[in-house]
Amino acid sequence: MSKCLFCEIIAGRIPGEMVGQTDSLVAFRDINPQAPVHVLIVPKEHIESMRSLEKKHAPLVGEMALMAQQLAEDVGYGQDYRLVMNTGINAGQSVFHLHMHLLSGRDFTWPPG
Ligand code: AMP
Repeated sequence: MSKCLFCEIIAGRIPGEMVGQTDSLVAFRDINPQAPVHVLIVPKEHIESMRSLEKKHAPLVGEMALMAQQLAEDVGYGQDYRLVMNTGINAGQSVFHLHMHLLSGRDFTWPPG
């Protein structure tokens, strides 16, 4: 099995700029930020994408949302932010380990590109 980039970051074998951690999640800054704050919220468990989620993962996804809310206050710009979970190549997913993008610090347009 080929190595997963985010599993390597979680294991500490590839550096990541960590901004938060719980028993089940890590959060680190995106290497190619698309906003003044761009953080990735990532489960420690290797789950490929939203498409692989099962009912048992429901609490984990809830924890991801709550961590995003907290990080928006702690490292973001507070009230206004965007959460993104790209799912599949055509939707822009490039790393196949589930993650939520937390973006803040600028105005965002809609629809997204
Ligand atoms: P996605 O395209 O939605 O799968 O998001 C993957 C994200 O991972 C992209 O925004 C990349 O910039 C980011 N990324 C890729 N390599 C690294 C890395 N070594 N450290 C932090 N973020 C990364």
